[in-house]
Amino acid sequence: MFKALVVEKNDDGKTHASVQEISIDQLPEGDVVVSVEYSTVNYKDGLCIGPGGGLVRNYPHVPGIDFAGTVEASEDPRYKPGDKVVLTGWRVGEVHWGGYAQKARVKADWLVPLPKGLTTRQAMAVGTAGFTAMLAVMALEDHGLEPGNGPVLVTGAAGGVGSVASAILANRGYEVAGVTGRPETAEYLKSLGVSQIVPREDINTTVKRPLETETWAGCIDAVGGEMLARVLGQMKYGASVAAVGLAGGAGLPATVVPFLLRGVNLLGIDSVMQPYENRLRAWERVAQDLPMDRLEEMINPATLADLPKLGADILAGQVQGRVVVDVN
Ligand code: NDP
Repeated sequence: MFKALVVEKNDDGKTHASVQEISIDQLPEGDVVVSVEYSTVNYKDGLCIGPGGGLVRNYPHVPGIDFAGTVEASEDPRYKPGDKVVLTGWRVGEVHWGGYAQKARVKADWLVPLPKGLTTRQAMAVGTAGFTAMLAVMALEDHGLEPGNGPVLVTGAAGGVGSVASAILANRGYEVAGVTGRPETAEYLKSLGVSQIVPREDINTTVKRPLETETWAGCIDAVGGEMLARVLGQMKYGASVAAVGLAGGAGLPATVVPFLLRGVNLLGIDSVMQPYENRLRAWERVAQDLPMDRLEEMINPATLADLPKLGADILAGQVQGRVVVDVN
C-alpha cells in the first residue's frame, strides 16, 4: 500500500480530495512503474484537484500532471529499474492517473530520462510550467528574437510559467518586463532578473486603438484574454508573441491590424503532445539556460496533504513561483 491524493465525486456532483492508502493493483495499465519522488502544482492541477474543469473523465481520480522519480519496474527495453525519469503532458493527471501518489504506472512513450545536471526535485521545480516556458523561449528565438532587440514582456510574471520564463530570458541577456497583479511580488520578480514591473491594470483593458506605441520585442503570455489582445497592438514590427496560457480568459478580443500592418506573429505553445525529440531538446535547454540559484528562489515546498488548499490557491492566481510536492 502507498499514499495518493484521491479525488472522489459525490452524488451531488461535488468533488472532494483526500490523502488515502491505495494498492498497486488500483493503478491504471502501463508498462513502467515509477516510484515518484516529486510532483508539482500547475494551473491544470488546480482544476483536477477541484472541480475537474472538463479535464477529468472518471472518478475516483489521482491528479498530478507531472512527476519525477525512479523506475521501479519496466516491461519496456528503454527503461530499467533505477533509471531516473520525468513525465509531463500526455494528459496524465487528467484522463490517466498522475503524479500525486508514491507510485505511478504509465506508458514508456510518455517518459523522458531525467535531464543531465538536474535532480528530480529541480526537474519538478521546473515542471510542466517551466518546460512550457522553455518551449516559448525557443519558439520566440526560432522566430528571430535576440538579446538587444528590446524588452521582452512576460505576463502573469509571478506565476509558474511567468517565473521560469523571466529567469530564463534574463539569464540569456534579455531585458525582461513582467506584468503582475500582485505589487508585493516586485522584489521576488527582481530577484529573477525582471528589470521593469508592469502593473496588471495598465495593460488588462479592452483594446481601444488597434496599434499602440511599438514597445515589446517579444512576449510570453500566460494570461490570454484582453491582456493578450492589448499586447498584440504594442509589439514591435515583426515581433512575436508566444501564447501559453489562459489565466485571464480564453477569449481573444483583438483586431487583426497588428498582424497586417506590423507583421506581428502569434505563436501557439503546447506542452502536452510535444514530440519526444523536442522534449529532449527543451529539457537540455532548461538545464543550460535556467540558473539553479534562481530556480531555488521560486520553490515553495509542499506535501500531498497540502494539495487541496494549493489547488484552490492556484485557481485564484495566488501561488507564487513553483510549488514542489514531496510525495513521500
Ligand atoms: P499560475 O497560476 O502559477 O500563473 C498564472 C499567473 O497569471 C498568476 O500567478 C497571475 O500572475 C496571473 N493571473 C491570474 N489570474 C489572472 C487574471 N484574471 N488576469 C490577469 N492575470 C492573471 O499558473 P501557471 O503558470 O501554472 O499557468 C499559467 C497558464 O499557462 C495557465 O492558463 C495554464 O493553463 C497555462 N499552461 C499552458 C501550458 C501549455 O502547454 N500551453 C502548459 C502549462 C501551463 P500575477 O499575480 O503575477 O499577475
